[in-house]
Amino acid sequence: MPDSFDVIIIGSGPGGYVCAIRAAQLGLKVAVVEKRATYGGTCLNIGCIPSKALLHASELFDEAGHGFAGMGIEVPPPKLDLAKMLAFKDQGVKGNVDGVAFLLKKNKVDTFHGTGTILGAGKVGVTLANGDKQRLETKSIVIATGSDVARLPGVTIDEVSIVSSTGALSLPKVPKRMLVVGAGVIGLELGSVWRRLGSEVMVVEFLDRILPGMDADVAKTVQRILMKQGMSFQLASKVTGVAKTSSGQKIAIEPAAGGAATTVEADIVLVAIGRVPFTEGLGLETAGVQLDNRKRVVVDAHFQTNVPGIYAIGDVIAGPMLAHKAEDEGMAVAEILGGQAGHVNHDVIPNVIYTFPEVASVGKSEEDLKAAGIAYNVGKFPFTANGRAKVNKTTEGSVKILADAKTDRILGVHIIGAAASEMIAEAAVIMEFGGSAEDLARTCHAHPTLTEAVKEAALAVDKRAIHM
Ligand SMILES: Cc1cc2nc3c(=O)[nH]c(=O)nc-3n(C[C@H](O)[C@H](O)[C@H](O)COP(=O)(O)OP(=O)(O)OC[C@H]3O[C@@H](n4cnc5c(N)ncnc54)[C@H](O)[C@@H]3O)c2cc1C
Repeated sequence: MPDSFDVIIIGSGPGGYVCAIRAAQLGLKVAVVEKRATYGGTCLNIGCIPSKALLHASELFDEAGHGFAGMGIEVPPPKLDLAKMLAFKDQGVKGNVDGVAFLLKKNKVDTFHGTGTILGAGKVGVTLANGDKQRLETKSIVIATGSDVARLPGVTIDEVSIVSSTGALSLPKVPKRMLVVGAGVIGLELGSVWRRLGSEVMVVEFLDRILPGMDADVAKTVQRILMKQGMSFQLASKVTGVAKTSSGQKIAIEPAAGGAATTVEADIVLVAIGRVPFTEGLGLETAGVQLDNRKRVVVDAHFQTNVPGIYAIGDVIAGPMLAHKAEDEGMAVAEILGGQAGHVNHDVIPNVIYTFPEVASVGKSEEDLKAAGIAYNVGKFPFTANGRAKVNKTTEGSVKILADAKTDRILGVHIIGAAASEMIAEAAVIMEFGGSAEDLARTCHAHPTLTEAVKEAALAVDKRAIHM
């Protein structure tokens, strides 16, 4: 008799493990199938967590080398022990993945280590690492298998000299020259890490701007800041091939619109052109689960696929590939399966780039609003006019608030600045409650904090900022 469950979740990333815990809280009998040795998916093992560990450590390394003396802290020039920095990152990952294992156990979630395959509605096969097969039965299945690195045609990732984000999180040596293909979040974050540790970093981007999808004015400012830090950019260009030479890699770059190729040399090429949904080995064709033209699992408003009883969440479905979006969808599905009204407001999902300064946004960009024909007011406040930023010498960046011209409702908030990742939360909260710039402007903010710039930007929507 196969083991039987209320819900089996395939994949234990932020979508899957959160779904499992919430479903267990609601009294369901839950199982998680995970093919990786540890829980937590891309995010905890090879994504958000290790990248943030290296961003944090490399930021402090940079600060120790360039910022301490100005504050009267005399230290010898910092020396990098890369092996130790990587071990620091690995410890952070271990702490997090162990934490998920603890939570799954605490919530009495049954776990199976192996590749899950959907054998039909209510039936899941698991191929364990040793090849043994197990059959499980369930009322519902949640596909939470996440995403994988997008590949560049003609460029083979070997995770040694041509790396994806995974290889770039564990380079054994600081490359002298790194070429990053793709000026999206991952390319800029990991490019920043290695630049701070001593690499010359050049970013090649197909589009004529960095950070596609982000407010264009913000993206332009971020590019200027990163260039000041020493990163170089070649926009409107495409990498068409990489050839190994005795001294590294020779990279062929052509104008995006076509034309003659030029070549540059680098020790490491980081391919960071995005991620694609991962459904390999899941048996979706046999199960009859529909995919869209980008190979994402198609779901309805309740995250159910075209096959009743089979649901999908996270990176494997449409929407931004972000851990917190996956988590919220995991909660929503668990609540729907538990007889509650699970819901995710996809209009209010913050997006953060953990460069220095950080870049965080939620809601609409100016381009979105123009395209939709929505009249809006802009309130902008620079950190150069914020007391805390001045004293901390972190004055780069600003807060920009976009509010509906008629109703004053906040439609988008874009922050470039130290701790932008933390500050964006108040923007998300006020937007979730349908708040206005006036509401934000009348909310008392502690002094001296960087968040006062958010309040001032809200005041600036009505042209009454105080410190400007
Ligand atoms: C370098 C990097 C940095 C990132 N930084 C951030 C960040 O700062 N903030 C942020 O919000 N997002 C970040 N992301 C994105 C984030 O990691 C993903 O959005 C998130 O992990 C998606 O969660 P998920 O649960 O949908 O899938 P995943 O985390 O990808 O988890 C899917 C899991 O399913 C397992 N699996 C797949 N198929 C099967 C199968 N057939 N059987 C069993 N198991 C299977 C996989 O092994 C994996 O563990 C980053 C990504 C990368 C690569």
